[in-house]
Amino acid sequence: MKKSHICKILNINNPVEGIYDVIVSFPEIAQPGQFIHVLCGGDTLLRRPISICDSGDGWLRFVYQVRGKGTKLLSQYKEGDELDILGPLGVGFNFSKKGDGVPVVVGGGIGIFPLLKLSKALGDKTQSILGFRTKDLIVMKDEFDSCCDLCHIATDDGSYGTKGFVTDVLEEVVKNNNVTSIYSCGPVPMMKGVKQIAEKYNIYCQLSMEQRMGCGIGACAVCTCQSHGENVKVCQKGPVFDAQDLDL
Ligand SMILES: Cc1cc2nc3c(=O)[nH]c(=O)nc-3n(C[C@H](O)[C@H](O)[C@H](O)COP(=O)(O)OP(=O)(O)OC[C@H]3O[C@@H](n4cnc5c(N)ncnc54)[C@H](O)[C@@H]3O)c2cc1C
Repeated sequence: MKKSHICKILNINNPVEGIYDVIVSFPEIAQPGQFIHVLCGGDTLLRRPISICDSGDGWLRFVYQVRGKGTKLLSQYKEGDELDILGPLGVGFNFSKKGDGVPVVVGGGIGIFPLLKLSKALGDKTQSILGFRTKDLIVMKDEFDSCCDLCHIATDDGSYGTKGFVTDVLEEVVKNNNVTSIYSCGPVPMMKGVKQIAEKYNIYCQLSMEQRMGCGIGACAVCTCQSHGENVKVCQKGPVFDAQDLDL
């Protein structure tokens, strides 16, 4: 049984309205794609799952968007406060099938956050494709720029980068490069499109499911998704899956 840690908040940034970028002390080693389960305080009994954005010796970084009660409470913590964090949890990204060509990471909205540590681990041939609703919501572009060969941005309204979907950009990148692996996190319709492109071009693909989650340790069934017609718990078998194993 995993133990939770009491973690000191070392730094908080608020790069755009409603997004908080937090560094905490953390005693364990985390893999790209794993997540933490954070107790937000107040009368919220269930922890909230948040991806590990980056980590190192004795620290961990997570970035979240305020959505509802739990994340609102979390946003009220200050530097120096302590957080009760369970983790690292779940199955992270697997690099063993990345091949010798170009790895591509594709993120939409809050789905970009787990892809930073992954991009660093995949190496400097990596291309990232990040999707946002509009220019004002773009975050972490500089960081993806510095660890990737190319960082492509797509916005829904065309206010920055390519107007339209990250999947349109992905298909162009695939046509113009020897892409041998694709890793993605974001809204399910987006990942469905990513999976279709990976299948069309026969490229190894992994997807991270950011499902609504209850206990985070397999004791409830809130976070189930479908794999080959069976229910599987995202917190135990995921959040990262081979795309071919997910019925999207
Ligand atoms: C693996 C994973 C990684 C994630 N990573 C990130 C990230 O890096 N950044 C980010 O911004 N977001 C991330 N999310 C999404 C984030 O967890 C949600 O936005 C957050 O839980 C919302 O909490 P809230 O209290 O603010 O919102 P609310 O909508 O008020 O509450 C949602 C949460 O309440 C609980 N809950 C509510 N209703 C039920 C119910 N009927 N049954 C069981 N539980 C219920 C659950 O814990 C649920 O997660 C991730 C999600 C997952 C699963």
